[in-house]
Amino acid sequence: MFSNQILKKRLNHYYLILQNSTLAYYLRCKTIPATFNHNQDENELWDIHSRLKQKFEENKIPIPPANFENCEGNSFLDLKIELVQRIIKSCEFCENFCHVDRTANQSGFCGVYDESYISSIFLHMGEEPPLIPSGTIFFSGCSFECVFCQNNDISTAGKKYPMRVAGRKVTPNDLATLATTIYNKGAKNINYVGGDPTPNLHTIISSLKFQSENVCQLWNSNFYNSIHALELLSDLIDLWLPDFKYGNNECAEKYSKIKSYWEVMKRNFAYIYEHGSRNIIIRHLVMPGHVECCSKPILKWISDNIPKVVVNIMGQYHPAYLVSQGQYPEINRRITRAEKQEVFNYADDLGLEFRSVS
Ligand code: SF4
Repeated sequence: MFSNQILKKRLNHYYLILQNSTLAYYLRCKTIPATFNHNQDENELWDIHSRLKQKFEENKIPIPPANFENCEGNSFLDLKIELVQRIIKSCEFCENFCHVDRTANQSGFCGVYDESYISSIFLHMGEEPPLIPSGTIFFSGCSFECVFCQNNDISTAGKKYPMRVAGRKVTPNDLATLATTIYNKGAKNINYVGGDPTPNLHTIISSLKFQSENVCQLWNSNFYNSIHALELLSDLIDLWLPDFKYGNNECAEKYSKIKSYWEVMKRNFAYIYEHGSRNIIIRHLVMPGHVECCSKPILKWISDNIPKVVVNIMGQYHPAYLVSQGQYPEINRRITRAEKQEVFNYADDLGLEFRSVS
């Protein structure tokens, strides 16, 4: 089969939305009634969520957009909004598990409080070919602290200057208006990125209440989400664009200051492969001197466990932020042609689909 045919098969849900032949997942969630009230215990709400999730997953056949109808009363989406507003009071959107009450003027490792800020929104022409033009929304704040970050001005803003986060403050309603506007300008998808979108999960999920266009929702993340965050997202996101950076915990802790990376990534990828749309493009940035310890273990794990994804093997690493200031000299260079070729050859040997997007 040609690479393009494989791509269309693996991103089938995405292409059906582009043709307006099926509903985006968030719109499906609006059609499913959910019986709950705001006084219920959080565990009870999760039980209801599990039952509706099962129902959602049992009915994944394409739904013609002409059949769309908001359900009466609360929907599955309303339940997700209720849950995300509960979680932020003891925040565990990501695996840093800060458990701070962000609605009470507190922030954790990401430096983001209750309010969300975006630094820019535009039609991105530099994403993978099937995605462009991509309606990309850059949020401030990040759950990582990568020493080579190219966007450190927005990712570390809240960490350096508490209570002052880079960009423009947005409510869920504002975000929905921006998403609709960029869609009307020609965006093929609404691309939530940062920094990282995860600290802004509450704003993003709540904004879907105010969106109504049949457009692909795209999660462009370091993918260090907690399992609760993934449970909420997996029925809302149509196309996943997660990073897979490191092949072991030592490199992750050294260069991004986070723990248990390898276990979290394996769990999260396995989860969306089983429960999500299964339309997944994994981004792997090849780092200098990290072919054996990172690139190869990652590609091997993908091949063994989630082979029907698309992989973008990226060779554009360049030293930035702390690395370019002289710290971490071992990664203060670009990758060589030989390193990139070695990773490409390895991916070919494993039979991975990467050439159509790399
Ligand atoms: S999003 Fe992650 S880093 Fe930020 S407060 Fe919540 S758990 Fe902590």
